Amino acid sequence: MNFTTPLSAVPRIGPVFQKRLKKLGITTVRDLLFYFPRTYEDLSKITPIAEIKEGTFYCIAGEILEISEERTFKKRMHLTHAIVRDDTGTIKALWFNQPYLPQTLRKGERMYLAGRVVRDAKGIYLSNPIYEKFAEGEMNLIHTGRIIPVYPETRGISSRWLRSIIRIILQGLTEKIEDAIPEKITQEERFLPLQTALKQIHFPDTLENIEKAKKRFSFEELFFISLFVLTERKKIASVKAVPIPFDEQLMKKFTSSLPFQLTDAQKKAAWHILKDLEKPRPMNRLLQGDVGSGKTVVATMASLAVTKKGYQAVFMAPTEILAQQHFKTVGQLLAPFKITAGLLTGKADRFISPKLPNDYIEISRKKLLEKALKGDIDILIGTHALIQKEVRFGKLALVIVDEQHRFGVKQRAQLLRHAQLIPHLLSMTATPIPRTLALTIYGDLDLTLIDELPKGRKKIETRIISPQEREQAYQFIAKEVKQGHQVFVICPRIEKSEIRNPKSETPNKKNGWSETKAVKEEYEKLSKEIFPNLRIAMLHGKMAQKEKEEIMRKFKFGKIDILVSTSVVEVGVDIPNASVMMIEGADRFGLAQLHQFRGRVGRSDQQSHCFLFTESSSRTVAERLRALVRLESGFELAEKDLHMRGPGDFNGVKQWGIPDFAMQQLSNVALVEKAREAAKNILEKDIALHTYPLLKKRVEELREKLHLE
Ligand code: ADP
Ligand code: MG
Repeated sequence: MNFTTPLSAVPRIGPVFQKRLKKLGITTVRDLLFYFPRTYEDLSKITPIAEIKEGTFYCIAGEILEISEERTFKKRMHLTHAIVRDDTGTIKALWFNQPYLPQTLRKGERMYLAGRVVRDAKGIYLSNPIYEKFAEGEMNLIHTGRIIPVYPETRGISSRWLRSIIRIILQGLTEKIEDAIPEKITQEERFLPLQTALKQIHFPDTLENIEKAKKRFSFEELFFISLFVLTERKKIASVKAVPIPFDEQLMKKFTSSLPFQLTDAQKKAAWHILKDLEKPRPMNRLLQGDVGSGKTVVATMASLAVTKKGYQAVFMAPTEILAQQHFKTVGQLLAPFKITAGLLTGKADRFISPKLPNDYIEISRKKLLEKALKGDIDILIGTHALIQKEVRFGKLALVIVDEQHRFGVKQRAQLLRHAQLIPHLLSMTATPIPRTLALTIYGDLDLTLIDELPKGRKKIETRIISPQEREQAYQFIAKEVKQGHQVFVICPRIEKSEIRNPKSETPNKKNGWSETKAVKEEYEKLSKEIFPNLRIAMLHGKMAQKEKEEIMRKFKFGKIDILVSTSVVEVGVDIPNASVMMIEGADRFGLAQLHQFRGRVGRSDQQSHCFLFTESSSRTVAERLRALVRLESGFELAEKDLHMRGPGDFNGVKQWGIPDFAMQQLSNVALVEKAREAAKNILEKDIALHTYPLLKKRVEELREKLHLE
């Protein structure tokens, strides 16, 4: 048996189990050995029966004195009774509904039993104990009498079964299995050798060894990811792109046409990008700037540079509302430059020709796609719709992806698919990527920060509002509107009657979930009862496209005072006159999302406010909301989020398929840096990994998984 042995060749894994395992993606010996325990239970301490007290979990060792079964007809239960004795005394054991037990456990046999001691009408007894026959020697005990592994729960595959099979495999691994981590690293870092680490992660001898094994496997995972990301980066650097010469006159003309002065940070970012565009290699840059820092205008400068040289740009946004907004903003900003722009979303296709600087004409999708292919559209703006197969470009030189964490690696690859020359790529995000993530899974990007907000912006006052303070908050809102400002009200749902996921917990105050507010209901309440004299509208994803657009337009032009909306306005929406962001059911949203909501206000020099409503009394909710009150910078909030919730919640992270235990290590800066350094060192000497066939194979596997999935 070795790593590549298929499970069908392993004793005791029949077709039924092969099928069940396959569902978990486990088909080889290697897969199964890398199916790690979720947690462990320490049953290594054997307690003399005389010392046992009720209510506690014990492992005992003794001889079965009696065993008998009983059927209770009333409750249709099968009971197995046993009396067990050691040198210090006897105790009863009781199993429920395990009718095969009397055949397995025989009178006179010596056993280990582990379970909770309970006392009820049946007396005092070990309830449903785990059992295992007494045996000498290493690895003979796997269910009791040691630290035992507990595997992720799956229907049809019990921890008990997995323990037996994994023991068979570990004992059957006769050929030496090759470790992909080079020996030099294993020695320097004093990692457990692969075979030892595998044994210790499944059947640890000590609690300390669990940590040692985990550290090794986490490193391994991060190391492979780093190798992959760094090789990708090298690859991109070796392909050709269209160089776009820097046109100073043009950029001066653009900046002087703006109604404001660029901040220094914006200038610096634009400079980085325009310098990248000059190179014959594709730019691969991430522009990171907190909400409201003015990324759009920087992206527009890059588009202008490219389109004025006769090439095309694509500008992709995560939502339809945002695509619409970019279409209008970019259209306006570039109006003096005779640039054509198209809008392609799931539902609406628009076109701006130079003759219609501030307006647009609707054209058919077919026409729009023809124009894109012929190169008659300079900038095509849109949503996911842009990555469909039929969208092709004649002269694409720049791809801009706004809030790229929503797209991820896979989609990026899709966009680049048709191009003969690889286009330059500019990703923009307000969600700052914590350092460790930036080093690992986003490590193939160059990073530019806009670390400054436009002048005159004030800190957004953020407050957690208790149910008793609701009335006051409404009065405050009325006052703001009176002064000519606008308000967002965010609700977690569209309708109250939405069908709940039957698996999810029923919300109640105790488990930290508050009753959810719904857009339709709040809209009714606010417009009829609370603010009958104000202009109120609602917005949600199920509304018709035209209707949504009309509402956003009215809101933008100050014709609506209060907009009650779902999270569709989460990202990017720009209404500088809005001064209050009120979030209902704030406990329902993550930190990054809340920060995005908050960023919808505070986009001018007026004082803005963010109200967080919650009825939850959960401590983690409170901690999350307090972090938002305390911290203004998205970067600090992201670090906090990573620590509180783990990286699984950062969009785009899931598709890497990083195992849970390694995910947890993603916030471990030292380990991440170590893995990256190790990968760098290897690639410096051997970029193609010729001398490391195993590593090469693993990197290929990762590439396949990410690009083809
Ligand atoms: P984000 O970085 O969140 O995408 P936007 O690009 O939407 O931010 O810009 C936010 C608002 O700030 C917009 O209304 C934009 O016109 C304005 N803005 C951008 N740059 C400046 C600047 N240098 N001075 C003043 N306002 C600016
Ligand atoms: Mg934006």
